Amino acid sequence: MTMQIERRKSRPLWVGDVQVGGDAPVVVQSMTNTDTADASDTLRQIHELAELGCEIVRVAVPDKEAAASLPEIVQKTPVPLIADIHFDHRLALEALKAGIHGLRLNPGNIRDADKVRTVVREAKVRGVSIRIGVNEGSLPPIAALAEGELPPTKVQRMVDAGLWEIRILEELELEDIKISLKAFDVPTMVSAYREMAQLVPYPLHLGVTEAGPPRPGTVRSAIGIGMLLAEGIGDTIRVSLAADPKEEVPVCWDILNTLNLRQHGATIVACPTCGRIEIDLLPLVDEVDKHFQKLGYPISVAVMGCVVNGPGEARDADLGIAGGKGKGAIFRKGEVVRIVQEADFMPALIEEGNKVIAERFGETPPEPANPSTSDIFTLTEVARPEAPGRVGRR
Ligand code: SF4
Repeated sequence: MTMQIERRKSRPLWVGDVQVGGDAPVVVQSMTNTDTADASDTLRQIHELAELGCEIVRVAVPDKEAAASLPEIVQKTPVPLIADIHFDHRLALEALKAGIHGLRLNPGNIRDADKVRTVVREAKVRGVSIRIGVNEGSLPPIAALAEGELPPTKVQRMVDAGLWEIRILEELELEDIKISLKAFDVPTMVSAYREMAQLVPYPLHLGVTEAGPPRPGTVRSAIGIGMLLAEGIGDTIRVSLAADPKEEVPVCWDILNTLNLRQHGATIVACPTCGRIEIDLLPLVDEVDKHFQKLGYPISVAVMGCVVNGPGEARDADLGIAGGKGKGAIFRKGEVVRIVQEADFMPALIEEGNKVIAERFGETPPEPANPSTSDIFTLTEVARPEAPGRVGRR
């Protein structure tokens, strides 16, 4: 029996047909890095992200040219879109006219309350939700300090910036609000979200901003986002990596899988290997990972090197193998179903895996790809997310 995290109750809203907050599962987001003015290139990337299980995609709208291509992008997108607006509130109005599903506004750079009000009124008429996206790198200036007064902390400034804009939206009775308080520094970001979670009922979009290249960015994001999710805080997440956005989505899913918040794709349990190993385990782990991730079914597969922990882990997984001297015991749902020679490990695991999938999902997975191409695993081939955030079209 896996432990389940008790989540903070937030006020639900919709981004297109995806529910965020309330009882919806934590929603996975990413952001395109194409020139939004190039509708076909942007749509190509949106489709790639959606194939990976991205449920909401954000697109930058930095200028009129980008805004002009939104009607086509919105019409052809497979998932709801959020327009990311900075500085020029007129671009938000254009995005709304184009039928955008959500807006992200930064209180640090649209500081004119009347301009924010104009956007909010239009969003409300159209039933579009707004994310107040506070970023530590673009906070509003600090008000003049009285003699001897200390400047507010970064966390306080982030929370205050969010509250300033929340009050404008509330004044106009727009309640479809979500909030992000992103910082590169994980303790800062975690503190800001914790504080905001106590102050308002709205859903929170979690992220560590500019987290860096894939390895450190993944660790930084997993710690920041993971700490909050483990406390029940957070309704939607984005991992921001200095990399192809396609790399962000699997990391989001790994974070959610790790915390038992959602199940997407196969979970591979594998021993780290040690001096007791008597089979060639690492290439097998790699092959098992590629094969079962490519199939995309949310099952657990354990690949273990010897009899010390092997049988226990292999028994707990949906499918498992525990190696011995050039042989292995294959487990299916806790029972040893066959003993196979090392050369037959992979074919036997594929066969038994197909049985698990057929029993659990009533489907027969496709034949494995031609061996000459099976190594060419691309992330875009991962499919079949577990029940996504969309729980019905309004
Ligand atoms: S399962 Fe066996 S081979 Fe693998 S790390 Fe543990 S003791 Fe070593």
